[in-house]
Amino acid sequence: MSYQVLARKWRPRTFHELVGQAHVQRALVNALDQGRLHHAYLFTGTRGVGKTTLARILAKCLNCTANGYGDEGVTSTPCGECDSCQAIDEGRFVDLIEVDAASRTKVEDTRELLDNVQYAPTQGRYKVYLIDEVHMLSTSSFNALLKTLEEPPPHVKFLLATTDPQKLPATVLSRCLQFTLKHMQPVRIVEHLAMVLAAEQVHFEESALWLIGKAADGSMRDAMSLTDQAIAFGQGSVQHLDVAAMLGTLDHRHVLALVEALADIDAPRLLHEVAELAEQGPDFAAVLDDVTAVLHRLAVAQMVPEAVDNGHGDRETILALAGRFIAEDIQLYYQIGIQGRGDMVHAPDLRSALEMTLLRMLAFRPQGVPKPPQASLPMRAEPAAKSESLQAASSPPSAPAADEALAQSPSETAQPASSPPPWEKSVDATPDSPSEPQAPLPPEPKMVPPWEGQPSIEAEAANERTPSTEIQIAVSDEPIAEAEASQATEPGRLDHQAWLELFDSLGLGGLTRNLAAHCIIEEDNGAVLRLRLDPSQAAMQADVHQQRLEKSLESQGFPRKVSFEVAALPEELETPRQRETRHGRERHALAVAALNKDPHVQKLQQVFGAKLIESSVKPAEELR
Ligand SMILES: [Zn+2]
Repeated sequence: MSYQVLARKWRPRTFHELVGQAHVQRALVNALDQGRLHHAYLFTGTRGVGKTTLARILAKCLNCTANGYGDEGVTSTPCGECDSCQAIDEGRFVDLIEVDAASRTKVEDTRELLDNVQYAPTQGRYKVYLIDEVHMLSTSSFNALLKTLEEPPPHVKFLLATTDPQKLPATVLSRCLQFTLKHMQPVRIVEHLAMVLAAEQVHFEESALWLIGKAADGSMRDAMSLTDQAIAFGQGSVQHLDVAAMLGTLDHRHVLALVEALADIDAPRLLHEVAELAEQGPDFAAVLDDVTAVLHRLAVAQMVPEAVDNGHGDRETILALAGRFIAEDIQLYYQIGIQGRGDMVHAPDLRSALEMTLLRMLAFRPQGVPKPPQASLPMRAEPAAKSESLQAASSPPSAPAADEALAQSPSETAQPASSPPPWEKSVDATPDSPSEPQAPLPPEPKMVPPWEGQPSIEAEAANERTPSTEIQIAVSDEPIAEAEASQATEPGRLDHQAWLELFDSLGLGGLTRNLAAHCIIEEDNGAVLRLRLDPSQAAMQADVHQQRLEKSLESQGFPRKVSFEVAALPEELETPRQRETRHGRERHALAVAALNKDPHVQKLQQVFGAKLIESSVKPAEELR
């Protein structure tokens, strides 16, 4: 028996076998079932996404005779057994007319084709014209086609296919129902190949299918052809190494090894990996492309873990790696990567260009920034410092407050490592104009130039206190209203006040921060932290937030299992969000009051009748 290639053997024969084009499938099935089939369809999409296949299935639907020879036989589920169905499947159905417009662009060709349109079908109920690459037709050919599209005979259906719909005249577009056939995602291709190979009883490695899925570039037909090749190459099975050799693709594990060396800031290993790679004689530019692609996926993994694709069957690895990078580093490496890619054309040889680019990533990495915590770090001096400066900024401008702030300032000289670099913050701290509120701020340790006040782990360690005393100090420093709300708890346990103090230093971002900001502490027994979540936010709850929160708590010296309970919040306790809002309001009110008292503003009001638009007032320094 002769071998039939996979692409032909597994060509979908019904709409239900069609992979990845559900929207087109549903529209056509509904139209067929309701007897409202349009006379002209335009399918757009790249090669190999199933245009011809769709046309054949539709031809079968229209011409299947299993349910009778009249119009009652039109069905969305052709039998595949009757003469018509078999003839179409075997490509010998005379009423399915496939035209490649790329090779028949002349108007005579189109005329000849269209002259036959008026004649009734010879074999079936309907004539189906499939005109592929229809954008290649000449203008006069389009005009000839247009007349037929305007008033087609009832027994004719047109299926136009193109990769470039922009080149079609609007008059043609407006007479067709247009469907965009989707580019096949690698994951779809892998699923389908796995199904086909299992049915064919061909042994395969899944990672090999991912290589094929990527190389097929969205085309299922190409994927099938490559699989055929791989089976021949691998003597009956589809193996990762065979496929990689066949496609000439780089083994993704090498790329991951490079990124891992970046994560460990390990230059010797980086060079060692490049040397190992060089033995395979790879395309070094492609290696750099792959590295930047991985960096992109790491950034996605950090911000939106759910959105990480399983592009190389390595989703878990990417998620794990993402935890070992600082977000800013990934952005920097990516930037250096794509710039290095552009510079490669000028490099004396590509290998040294790759090495330089990778080393540049490490060389330009900001110094003195510690790696993201892999183990729990003791709590930093940040919460107390934060609350002091916050208090100073929000209290009315009076001498005692300023003195107090000055007296406390020495404790702030150890700059928390996670605070923004001095050059960012200093701009905000500078008053924009004399009319800004002049709240007495403590001396800004953040103004110290980076070369003098480099934060170091040692300096922080010297300044460390145990978490429990930390919290108590913070509590005693708080305004009375907030101190009342807190209750005495055992040392080392998180109470509500400690939760508020701790919140900002957790460094949460995005949805996790938002979710946690709507929580109060229900109970903390030192091992399990039960949070009560505002019912209005219940829908946002997800495991990923719980895990991130646990990680952050651990990094601040509070290793806990976190559980959320949705219940109405008591009115007397503030959530971090409510507190933030209240502080914002207070600071805004202070700023407005200061502006109203400002002599310049008063003069403007008296002389020019100026009005202060309170909603436009922004406090000078936004503290979060
Ligand atoms: Zn049939």
